[in-house]
Amino acid sequence: MDDPAVASDPAPGQQPDGRELWQAVLRTAVDPIIIIEQDGTMAHVNQATERLLGYRAGDLIGRNISMLMPEPHRSAHDGYLANYLATGEASIIGIGREVEAVRADGSVLPMSLAVSETHFDGRSWFTGVLHDLTQRRQVEADLREATERLEERVRERTAQLEASMVELSRSNRDLEQFAYIASHDLQAPLRNVRQGLELLDDHLEETRGERFEGEAAELRDLTMAAVLRMEEMIRGLLSYSRLDRTGQPPRQSVDLAALADEVVDQLRPQLAEVGGRVEVGPLPTVDGDEIQLRQLLQNLLENATKYRHDDRPLVISVEAERADGDDNDNNGGDDGGWRVTVADNGIGIDHDQRDRVFELFRRAHAGYEGVGLGLAICQRIVERHGGDIWVDDEPDGGSAFRFTLPGAEPETGRP
Ligand code: ADP
Repeated sequence: MDDPAVASDPAPGQQPDGRELWQAVLRTAVDPIIIIEQDGTMAHVNQATERLLGYRAGDLIGRNISMLMPEPHRSAHDGYLANYLATGEASIIGIGREVEAVRADGSVLPMSLAVSETHFDGRSWFTGVLHDLTQRRQVEADLREATERLEERVRERTAQLEASMVELSRSNRDLEQFAYIASHDLQAPLRNVRQGLELLDDHLEETRGERFEGEAAELRDLTMAAVLRMEEMIRGLLSYSRLDRTGQPPRQSVDLAALADEVVDQLRPQLAEVGGRVEVGPLPTVDGDEIQLRQLLQNLLENATKYRHDDRPLVISVEAERADGDDNDNNGGDDGGWRVTVADNGIGIDHDQRDRVFELFRRAHAGYEGVGLGLAICQRIVERHGGDIWVDDEPDGGSAFRFTLPGAEPETGRP
């Protein structure tokens, strides 16, 4: 076969003959180009048509274009052309669309087809430019398959996650229930031990007219102290487990400033005793459970009073500021969250105990009253409100307990 480009090469400096150039362009075009007469007969096909569809030009020229179409388009095609010529209503001419072409071996190729109409020599001619979409279809199919695989994996993971969440909430519920029942059931025998000791006191007094003395009195007091402590621990455990028995805390507008005032009022006798004072800064109104938030402030203020330093007058401050994104909380700074700080100038907490003081029954200082549940309760309250709690050093040696509360209302008008 002649090389069209070489055959029509003009001599250097000479303009190429326009007709030959167009023929060369048609011959060498990458995409199939087919010229059709107005009755649908193929008049010309280029080499790309032969290459792609597997026909020789002689097999196509003079035959109807519909031979390249799969059914049902093949049968409908004549009608379509006739209709177009009669009415001018086109569904492909000048528009183009995606079609299928039947190759010589019967296989079908996805193609895009752009058809234009030319009036020449008193007749209408149609030029169809085809483009093979096989590769694109393959990429699309691969993409679809990859997306389906991905979706499937997401579905599987989601199902796994949902299953473990159900399992987790079930075991949480079991644990709560266990703690609640155990605490309840432990209370009764403990009460009996205490009553037994008291009855023993009375019995001794009634029958012998005397009380425990000496070593016996010490043993009796030790036993009573252990019983009272055990009762306190059980009470604490009970209120800790109750925090989760009621589901999410009820949401109401809680004025933290008013709450802090109440708690400070209750604490006044202890504060007066040690010559301490509490400075309450402007505090916001937040959404939450008033009872729980009161308990939170109360625990923190009581601790600040309890763990004071003997060498300096106790000063406690309660302040709030907008939480920023740097907090190690899980509510960021964009949602209008607040960070509340209860700081003291007390004895402070060693670095290695910082995170541990929030654990159940964990105590960092010996020789103080308490059972080590106050901060665990604080943590649970804050987490149930969607916030976080932690403790920092105060420059003068005290502690600063900080907690975040998300999505709170703007500040109230405390002066
Ligand atoms: P409790 O006070 O009953 O021991 P908490 O859970 O309230 O239990 O506190 C745990 C521990 O954290 C305390 O035992 C104490 O060692 C330490 N702690 C809490 N608050 C403070 C504070 N303001 N200053 C110093 N240490 C504190």
